[in-house]
Amino acid sequence: MGIIELDTERSILRILAHIYLYGDAASPELARVVAEDIQDHWNEPRAKQRLNNIDHKVEFSIKGFYAPGLTEFDVLGNTDPLNNYFRIEEFAHGDISFVDGVGSNTGYFKLANLLNHSTTAAHEFGHTLGLDHPEVLDLRGRGTPGIMYPRGTLTDPPFQYDPSAAPGAVGGTMNPAFRKVHQEDIDLLQLERFNHNQRPVVLGDFSSIWHDRHFQ
Ligand SMILES: [Zn+2]
Repeated sequence: MGIIELDTERSILRILAHIYLYGDAASPELARVVAEDIQDHWNEPRAKQRLNNIDHKVEFSIKGFYAPGLTEFDVLGNTDPLNNYFRIEEFAHGDISFVDGVGSNTGYFKLANLLNHSTTAAHEFGHTLGLDHPEVLDLRGRGTPGIMYPRGTLTDPPFQYDPSAAPGAVGGTMNPAFRKVHQEDIDLLQLERFNHNQRPVVLGDFSSIWHDRHFQ
């Protein structure tokens, strides 16, 4: 989740969020990388939003913090809509990373999912802002997959794990590394529905769930 700030002078709609990482695999470096990955992916389309008949640039400003001393009380008691709390561990049940719903500010990430400029953090961040998976998960003939497509989506061969695999066979589904944020993803946020004169304008919701470490 995050907040939206309208800069009328420069015609910018800025989405701000703070990402706090805790857990045994969290680190200052990872906090920096995760925030940068989210920011870079969401700024990539250089998206625009029309407000009051003026095109506004949509700009994401994401800051990451390593929070080794974070407590359950901090997460449950938080009332600041800027703040997101993600537990990072090498092991996760079901081998997946997740956030606590569509419109949320907490989750649990498997470390391996976040390395090598992966799109996992950017995808999960989309969920926190209120975006769900698309309904149709067959993108054949439709080019680069959008950021909110889940694992298992059918794509054109260049976007598969193995371009030579048959669609739906082993290796024949979307490699999430190829997902990109498109203008359409920004459109789905419906940024025009808010009253941008009120403070704060909140995108997403509080889930405020503390996660304990998963064990094998
Ligand atoms: Zn998802």
